[in-house]
Amino acid sequence: MFESKINLLDLHRDNLRNFLFSLGAKSFVTEQIMQWIYHHSCTDFNKMFNISIKIRNQLYKKSIIFSSKFIEERISSDGTIKWITDINNQKIETVYIPEKKRSTLCVSSQIGCPLTCHFCATGQKNFQRNLKVSEIISQIWQANNILKKKNIANRITNIVFMGMGEPLLNLNNVVSALKIILDEYGFNLSKRRVTLSTSGIVPALEKLKNMIDVCLAISLHAPNDYIRNLIMPINKKYNIHSLLNAAKEYLKSSFANRGGITIEYVMLNKINDSNDNAEQLSDLLKNIPSKINLIPWNPFPGSSFLCSNIDRINTFANILRKKGFTVIIRKNRGQDINAACGQLTGKKINTIK
Ligand code: SAH
Ligand code: SF4
Repeated sequence: MFESKINLLDLHRDNLRNFLFSLGAKSFVTEQIMQWIYHHSCTDFNKMFNISIKIRNQLYKKSIIFSSKFIEERISSDGTIKWITDINNQKIETVYIPEKKRSTLCVSSQIGCPLTCHFCATGQKNFQRNLKVSEIISQIWQANNILKKKNIANRITNIVFMGMGEPLLNLNNVVSALKIILDEYGFNLSKRRVTLSTSGIVPALEKLKNMIDVCLAISLHAPNDYIRNLIMPINKKYNIHSLLNAAKEYLKSSFANRGGITIEYVMLNKINDSNDNAEQLSDLLKNIPSKINLIPWNPFPGSSFLCSNIDRINTFANILRKKGFTVIIRKNRGQDINAACGQLTGKKINTIK
């Protein structure tokens, strides 16, 4: 019976409205229900006093508001929190990253990732499946509730799709979740505070521009196809040229990316970190408004890569800065709890209190 009910966390506003119409509800009930769910964290139809009893009864019969649960939690010495959700015995991870002026949540879009980038722990794990809209939304919904209850933050202010999985391989569900995230009756975040990171599924990126406008981060990680082919198998299907072209097209119609897109570049010792590589990267990006995020590589067991040393990273950054690029060297957050970029594998941690 439970299975046959519709989970309202799977529905963005238009879909929720259609569902409510099918129950005989008026249009404005959609916004009322969304407010109960997303602004008041209410999952009990009985408490929704401004909804008629008749519609509440219908809702009770045909639907549920079901959030998957964080079952484990680990808190880093720097305040980063990693949560694990168990979905039918499969694990996904969500990471909260506190900063001075922001509360960022890094969400997962798939269980595992089929793209097997060699430097990424998630990619070494068996891919299971795409997450449903409700499973993406549950991560944010629960994080908001927990942070508020523990008095850590009032609410999440920024969301990055940089957890497990490749969001563009789960395009429709990710876009529906993004709609709820941006909706004023949903999580109500500005498009400039929501970032989708992709390794470059070009046809999906081309579709995305007609679906939603959010900040784009491209996991480039190499200054040429030779190196990218070695570390990211997806590059053999969609090469750098086609990826950057699709990113440029996305930029053209985007307000969220007015300051340019983010280029992510993981620093791998003696693989992609030479002065020549920095020069090549600057040539590649010279016509693309972008800021470059250099990410010190985070180790994980069984991997033979090494992170470039800090002097090398600084030299690499300075070459790009001299060419006029904005370069940020990303801080490693939550490394002590394996919550840093590319360390998410869904292994067991502490049980939640
Ligand atoms: N699949 C998407 C989003 C998740 S990965 C993507 O690849 O963009 C988030 C970021 O962490 C990506 O830029 C990814 O390349 C990077 N990353 C993966 N493994 C890493 C590691 N071990 N150390 C540092 N960054 C890593
Ligand atoms: Fe997947 Fe992104 Fe990891 Fe590549 S870097 S394996 S695309 S999660």
